[in-house]
Amino acid sequence: MSKLPHISTSIFSIMSQLANEHNAINLSQGFPNFPVDSLLKERAAFWSKQEIHQYLPMAGYPPLLEKIAQLTKDSYQRIIDPNTNIIITAGATEGIFATIQALVMPNEEVIILDPSYDCYETPILLCNAIPKRINLNDDFTPNWELIGNTVNSKTRMIIINNPHNPTGTTWKEHDFIALEKLTESNPNLIILSDEVYEYITFENKHQSINQREKLKEKSIAISSFGKSFHITGWKIGYIVAAEDLMKEIKKVHQFLVFSVNSIAQYAINDYLDSAKIHELGWFYQQKRDFFRSLLKETKFELLPCEGSYFQIANYSKITNENDLEFAKKLVTQFGVATIPLSPFYADHKQTNCLRFCFAKEEETLVSATEKLLKL
Ligand code: GLN
Repeated sequence: MSKLPHISTSIFSIMSQLANEHNAINLSQGFPNFPVDSLLKERAAFWSKQEIHQYLPMAGYPPLLEKIAQLTKDSYQRIIDPNTNIIITAGATEGIFATIQALVMPNEEVIILDPSYDCYETPILLCNAIPKRINLNDDFTPNWELIGNTVNSKTRMIIINNPHNPTGTTWKEHDFIALEKLTESNPNLIILSDEVYEYITFENKHQSINQREKLKEKSIAISSFGKSFHITGWKIGYIVAAEDLMKEIKKVHQFLVFSVNSIAQYAINDYLDSAKIHELGWFYQQKRDFFRSLLKETKFELLPCEGSYFQIANYSKITNENDLEFAKKLVTQFGVATIPLSPFYADHKQTNCLRFCFAKEEETLVSATEKLLKL
């Protein structure tokens, strides 16, 4: 017997393992391969030698909560109370899990927009609730007609992800307006807004749920220091939500992890004083442009990339194989690991696209492209 009979090993683990086995360049699982800011490492080293190794308060280290409140004000002009509106989480993943467990009742429905990041469905199933997976349009924008037709009196939550993994698209003003209309006519509906790539946007500044007067009180905004400070292995992030929602989320968080790694919280608290978080978009924009200029020489066709550190490319000019087969061939025979899109769809839709992570040193991107040119 399995409680989760249809859940298997994540495509990120599969592709990273294949990359290691075949000594391939790993542009699959999303993580940076360049050094982390030495100041952040120095603060972690410093705090590891102080006596700060016991449990922190359940919601987080109070000075860090204050700084997140300030960051939320600076970035989104939203005033929040560090005592009631924020918790530090063990990565965005724990924040998402705790939120869903706390707020979704058995038999309620939760809307997920496919292709979707892989950690949303499991906590819904474990609540005995019902995931309603709806495909985005072919250009990866939300299909508001389909979403509107799916929402009903049992729909408790819609999960949105902006900027979007795996496609790099971002939400537009009309998407927010459509969501506002939907919540007006469905007062039970709350929004889980996965914004882990909030500081990685390019031509257009990130639009956060925190900025929407009509939505913010019914939303849970999810952030990750893993993305913003290039420290995916530290597994640390935070949630911002209205007090009534947060009160319930804290009940789960306190028994899921109680509190989060003390050294990481102290180090990040110091680092936030000097971190140039608002320059992150420009930093990655240069990587995106560099990688796109390289890929233009290959047979891949590039789709737009407005945010995140993922570039989607269509391979129809190379082969008509399905994306999983082609991705496996690329890693085993051509030495480049990527992520196929079909595992992000409940219906395994074939888009003939692969996802490349460009959070890499330039030389890694050059070496990968040299291999892709052989296609
Ligand atoms: N978020 C990362 C990605 O999209 C993967 C994280 C993981 O492996 N769970 O590649």
